[in-house]
Amino acid sequence: MRHYPNFYIDGAWVAPVTPKTADVINPATEAVSGTISLGSVADVDNAVAAARRAFPAWSQTSVADRLDLLRAIQAQYSRRMQELGEAVTEEMGAPLSLGCGFHVGLGAGHLQTAIEVLETFKFEEQRGATMILREPIGVCGLITPWNWPLNQVTVKVFPALATGCTMVLKPPQLAPYSAQILAEMIADAGVPAGVFNMVQGQGSVIGAALSKHPQVDMISFTGSEPVGVQISKDAADTVKRVGLELGGKSAWVILDDADMAANVGAATAGMMVNAGQTCSAGSRLLVPNARLEEAVAAATAAANGVTVGDPHGDVGMGPVVSKAQWNIVQGYIQKGLDEGARLIAGGPGRPDGLDKGYYCKPTVFVTTNDTTIAREEIFGPVLVIIGYDDLDHAVAIANDSIFGLGGYVSGRDTDAARSVARRMRTGAVWINGGFDFHAPFGGYKRSGNGREWGAFGFDEYLEIKAISGFGE
Ligand code: NAP
Ligand code: MG
Repeated sequence: MRHYPNFYIDGAWVAPVTPKTADVINPATEAVSGTISLGSVADVDNAVAAARRAFPAWSQTSVADRLDLLRAIQAQYSRRMQELGEAVTEEMGAPLSLGCGFHVGLGAGHLQTAIEVLETFKFEEQRGATMILREPIGVCGLITPWNWPLNQVTVKVFPALATGCTMVLKPPQLAPYSAQILAEMIADAGVPAGVFNMVQGQGSVIGAALSKHPQVDMISFTGSEPVGVQISKDAADTVKRVGLELGGKSAWVILDDADMAANVGAATAGMMVNAGQTCSAGSRLLVPNARLEEAVAAATAAANGVTVGDPHGDVGMGPVVSKAQWNIVQGYIQKGLDEGARLIAGGPGRPDGLDKGYYCKPTVFVTTNDTTIAREEIFGPVLVIIGYDDLDHAVAIANDSIFGLGGYVSGRDTDAARSVARRMRTGAVWINGGFDFHAPFGGYKRSGNGREWGAFGFDEYLEIKAISGFGE
């Protein structure tokens, strides 16, 4: 059992102003795995006041000072990676190989990237007699979800620290452990008091208090669209900058010259990673109609090949995060059946032999782009395959979505792949598995408005000042 009764505020581990404890559930066992404290508005006020007091000094630190802190955090991070991965597995059910692998690796990658970007970032730029300064925006409220808990905290906290901002982090109730350990690392690395603060608790209390707070200058949020909308409204009265990273229904286009078995297999297995709880998941697989049955065979084999079970075992997929999420996923699977989609793998209920834990079956449907399961973000291990006639048709289907987060293209014809990628109305496209920590990540349309990762992620936390008449 883990017990994390304290918040990190003003350089100290402190008890909540009003004590309140909540259980954290292990999604693999449905048993209580530990407890956290739930904060109140008074805790937010204390954390924001500390961040406000720390801002004048931290915002004036040198790049070298901030690099020293990030490198000290890096030393802590590399020492405790196994512990972090185990925390991710326990809090949200990712297989341990994934928790200790990609989950922890993404955090390490964002930290290393923040260091690399900070080493050369241009905070000042002279244009004729005008000096352009990029200055830290101030006190930031960072609100994160449970699905890639470490990724989403690190992609906010490290750029915020690097740019000279101070902050209050609000981790997800469902997955609070990895954030707690990361906060210990940041504290142990010697962050100055008030620069980094963390308050656990309910989004409707802590998140809303941050969004409305007159002493908070900016909110960075990752999570669901309705909460993103609510935060924007709450932040409007104080004219905060709000960075939103919301959901997606990203298309994965398989070109007609692709190795169908290999690429459909990879896309299907990719959908099941993290039990499908990935905002940028390629959840709509677009294949040439002429090769649809080949794709169906490959997807069925790949989905049936994903082993599901105890995330501490040698499995490809653990449970989804919560009972509520399990119910949402089951609802969509039933909706797919009700709307006449063709089920080619998985289906309703738990996999055979698993009667405890929020396990779903790796599920694949063949359908059209007008069905609910093709239009709404399911956030579970459910892939839909949609046939296309030619590349114009593929692009039209890909773009026929309220979302615009990611896109994938697989195939041999480089010109065709690039053309499809250019025409996708999304913030990111990955061709043949390309991946880059320095590439910006964020959405078009209802997938949000911010850009995280790399140097673009720094811009989220910076104001731009022009000093005219500065002189040559
Ligand atoms: P969520 O409700 O949007 O929660 C994300 C974060 O926002 C959590 O820390 C949450 O706190 C907080 N929050 C909730 N209400 C708030 C409010 N009124 N003001 C400020 N902050 C608030 O997401 P979720 O409940 O974890 O998941 C629900 C659905 O969102 C999923 O099924 C999925 O479709 C989508 N989702 C998308 C992403 C993504 O990366 N695009 C990530 C996660 C979820 P609590 O700890 O109290 O929840
Ligand atoms: Mg919620």
